[in-house]
Parts: sequence; structure tokens; C-alpha cells
Amino acid sequence: MRLSRFSLHTTKETPADAEIVSHQLMLRAGMIRRLAAGLYTWTPLGLRVLRRVEAIVREEMNAAGALELLMPAVQPAELWQESGRWDAMGPLMLRMQDRHEREYCFGPTHEEVITDLVRRDVRSYRQLPINLYQIQTKFRDEIRPRFGVMRAREFLMKDAYSFHMDAADLQREYDNMRAAYCRIFERLGLEYRVVAADPGDIGGSKSEEFHVLANSGEDELAVSDTGSYAANVEAAALPAPAVERPAPQSERAVVDTPGITTIDGLCQALSIPAEKTMKSVVVDGADGDPVLLLLRGDHQLNPIKAERLPAVAAPLAFADEAVIRRHFGAGPGSLGPVGADVRVIADHGVAALADFVTGANEDGRHLTGVNWGRDLPEPEFADLRNAMAGDPSPDGQGTLTLVRGIEVGHIFQLGRKYSESMQLKVLDEDGRDITPEMGCYGIGVSRIVGGAIEQCHDDNGILWPDAIAPFTLLICPIKADKSQRVRDAAGALYEACRSAGVNVALDDRGLRPGPMFADADLIGVPHRIVVGERGLDAGTLEYKARSADNATEIPHDMDAVLKAI
Ligand code: ATP
Ligand code: MG
Ligand code: MG
Ligand code: MG
Repeated sequence: MRLSRFSLHTTKETPADAEIVSHQLMLRAGMIRRLAAGLYTWTPLGLRVLRRVEAIVREEMNAAGALELLMPAVQPAELWQESGRWDAMGPLMLRMQDRHEREYCFGPTHEEVITDLVRRDVRSYRQLPINLYQIQTKFRDEIRPRFGVMRAREFLMKDAYSFHMDAADLQREYDNMRAAYCRIFERLGLEYRVVAADPGDIGGSKSEEFHVLANSGEDELAVSDTGSYAANVEAAALPAPAVERPAPQSERAVVDTPGITTIDGLCQALSIPAEKTMKSVVVDGADGDPVLLLLRGDHQLNPIKAERLPAVAAPLAFADEAVIRRHFGAGPGSLGPVGADVRVIADHGVAALADFVTGANEDGRHLTGVNWGRDLPEPEFADLRNAMAGDPSPDGQGTLTLVRGIEVGHIFQLGRKYSESMQLKVLDEDGRDITPEMGCYGIGVSRIVGGAIEQCHDDNGILWPDAIAPFTLLICPIKADKSQRVRDAAGALYEACRSAGVNVALDDRGLRPGPMFADADLIGVPHRIVVGERGLDAGTLEYKARSADNATEIPHDMDAVLKAI
């Protein structure tokens, strides 16, 4: 690629709305451009990286025996009604109507569509097992899209679904997929961990997540120092904490705050630091009274957090929409901002405000929240980590530490959840109907790009692992505008590299060395070769690895170049 013909748009300024380094660097390098909240255009530069990630995922899925297909992004409501998820998915699902007023969604996942396909096409045990996958755009109307492509609303996922005659065969394929995922993340050149996970909305029995380790990760992982236990704290079965904590108050407390109409006022009255809260909504309580809900978290309060929070971070508050609805018996649509007649009810005192805390997003359209893991300020995260550090592991070996991770993959044993509800039946050897077992296996293809940058960057920009770099080698001619000889030598080297199959770019934009090298560092090309008059006189080229501090001289020939990169 000649950069003079490539649309490269880099900037020095750090974009104000980008909170974490990968988002900042993707914008500064010009890899993505924001269209609206959680919607991004992948520029030619960004797309080169995305496609390389995708290729590795595809190669390993094919090698593991899965078959690629492509399903529609838009899905009819009927399928989701069959599985019971049309209501369960709530506001995460983007819904729409066609001209006949039939209901559809933009698929957040594809269990229903694939189960429908298989129940039409697969009749006999001879056609199983089968593992079908796609690499396709999903839409989830995330509570709080942020971090660029890491928590986008539209994103690229690899999703695979397998079907089996029995649970033992499902286990075999699950292990096969687990091994394929390990190969994928090793090839990507990322530091990752496999942890026990909570199956969440997708359902099923066993599930594990693949996490790229990074301090900006939204998930906390409890990992034992012996390496024998690792779990997302959402799923961790941890023993009672060893450290002393004040017992939560068990009395039902009703806190009346008449006249308080703002979230700040309420925080003051309850001694909740204002920065720990976001928006509020007032909802109808079970008794019909309006109740103020404070926003804190977008996922369900889990036992370990509930247990530990009062001691280390009280009165942080959490809940998700399902908790709120359960608590108040509220049906779909009945939550939302109304009036400002405020009363706060807490079942267990202020700390347990957590159990029913939520909020509305800016346009008040539906509930929103923040993910606690990310927003807990570092000193409190450290407190929590220290509090946990002494705890033995659940498996009796070693002690636990808490690390942060970015969920880049998730594998599930679904069992018969979808095959049963959607009446998928297959004939066994004796001609009897059986309901197949099912597994599903997701990878956040676009999230991996951000996750890789979180792990691989320095003050000057991105340091791509070779496997997913947009270009492997960048050739930088010095003062080419003044020297025909430099122009010719750089052009010849570029052509020779292309012929040798190197993923090479030539920076022929005529920039001064400073800005040219700054761009090379920012976009993170792993290998750089400088062609200049002095080197040409001496028969050398200047080679520098992106990760190295200094450049070295190498002989001006192709063998030396291929050896260096
Ligand atoms: P998260 O906990 O981060 O919301 P999830 O558990 O909801 O993710 P899954 O349903 O397991 O996601 O989907 C499979 C994979 O898709 C995830 O492991 C993740 O890598 C990716 N993914 C999920 N949501 C998003 C998103 N909003 N933006 C980018 N990638 C996503
Ligand atoms: Mg999610
Ligand atoms: Mg998750
Ligand atoms: Mg998941």
C-alpha cells in the first residue's frame, strides 16, 4: 500500500469523549469514526485489522470442523416468542415493524434462528453432530455504550451453535471449541484467561468466558495464585470472606425525604457521595407510591458483591432492570421517569439500596446503568482486592486475587433450553424422537481489536501483535522529495517486499521524518525501515522494531530485510 493513496487520518489530540486508551488510540489513529452512540464506521485502516482478526477466527473455526453460514440480521418476533425471549430480552433488543406491521428485531444473538434452521433441515441422528457458525453484525441496545468498539451497540460477533444426540457428545464439542478458542487467542498474540462464567440471558448449565487481561476491563475475575481456579466474580462460588465486615442492617427501613427533588439532594440526605450515582427515575412502587431509584449498575447484584460491598464500598448501589421489576412487580413499560415526589425505601438500610437502584438514560427512554467494575474508583477496587486477597480458593488450593478482564469470548453448554422450547426433534437409531443437546460459542471479533490495543500500546501509540497489524512493515524514505535516488531505492524495496509477500506500506506522502515516524508509531506498524542518502552511501538500511528503543543498521538487501522482520 502506498500511503499517498491510502486514506490515513491521524490526529495528535486526545478526543475528550474517549475514556480509555484503546478508544483514544483508535480515534487518533483514524481506525474508526463515530456515527452515533455505539455506532462506528471502520475506516480502511481499521478494517484491515478487523479483517485479520476475523481471518484467524475463521481459520481456526474451520480447522475445528465448524461450518460457516450466514443468517439474516433481522429476525421475526415469532421465533423469539416461541423461545420466550421476546419479553425477556427487554430494552436490549432493537425492535421494528415492517410495512405490514409485523414485528421484527435486529438480532442481538441467533439461538432462535439457528434452532429454526436445524429443525427444518435435520431429521435424523445421521445428520448430527453439527456445528454451524457465522461472522455477522449484531445489534444490542446497550444500557451504556462506551469504550468505542468494546461496548458498541452494533458490533461484529462470531457465533457458533452445535447440536448433539446426547450430553456426552455436547461435552466433546465444547472441549473442541474451548481448544479452538485457546488457539485463536494464542495466534492473536494476546494474554488471556479462561474463567468460569454466569450464563446470563443466553441460559444453559455450564459456561466459560475468555478474557483479555487489562486494567480497563469491565469484569472482575477471581483468580487463584496456583492457577487452579478462575471465575468471573459474577459466577464465583467463594467462601465467606476471612476479613471482618459490619453486618448488613436487616431491619426494613423507610427513609422519607419529603421535599427532595434532585438526585444531589437525595445523596446529601443519605450521605451518598454524589459521584457514585448517576441519574434517577421515579417508578410506581408495589403499593402504588412513587419510589425514587438511583442509578448504579447494569447487572444483577451478585452474592459476592453484596457480601463484600458494605465493608469496602458502602453504600454503593446496584441492580438491573430484572431486579427492579421483580421487586416492584412492574410489567414491561411501567418503569420510567415520572414526577418528583420522592420517597426512598430500603429493605436493609441504605446499603441495601443496592437491591433496587437504577436509572434512565438521557432521553428518558429506558433504564440505563453503569457497570460497577469499571466505575469503582481504583482505591476502592484495591480495597476490595485486598479484602479478598486472604481468602482461600474455592478448590482448597492457594489464595485468591482479583484481576480485571475484557470478555472477548464466551462458550456455553445450553442443554435443551432452545431445542425443547422450539420443539426441535430428531429420530435416533431406533426411530424414536429425541430432543438434541445444544452448545453455543461466541467471540467478540470487533471487541478484540480494542482489547488488543488495551494490552499492546505505549505513550506513542499502538504496538500491534504481528498477527493482526494493519501493515507488517512500513518503509519510510527520508527527504524523498529532494532525492531521486532515495525515491527509487524506497520504491524498489517496496516492490521487492510486495513480491516476497510481505504486508508492506510505503510512506510516500512526503512528510518530514518527525511526523512520519510519529504516524508510524501511532498506527503501530510492528517493523519500520528508513531509506536515506547516508544509508544508501554505506549500503545499509535503518531498521527498527516498534517495540525496540533503538534502530539498527542492516545490509541493503532483501535477505537482511526478511530476516529482520
Ligand atoms: P458483556 O458481558 O460484555 O455485555 P455478553 O456476555 O453480553 O458481553 P455474549 O452474549 O456472551 O456477550 O456475546 C458473545 C461475545 O460478544 C462477548 O463475549 C463479547 O466479546 C461480544 N460482545 C458482547 N456485547 C458486545 C458489545 N456491546 N460490543 C462489542 N462486543 C460485544
Ligand atoms: Mg452484555
Ligand atoms: Mg458477560
Ligand atoms: Mg457473555
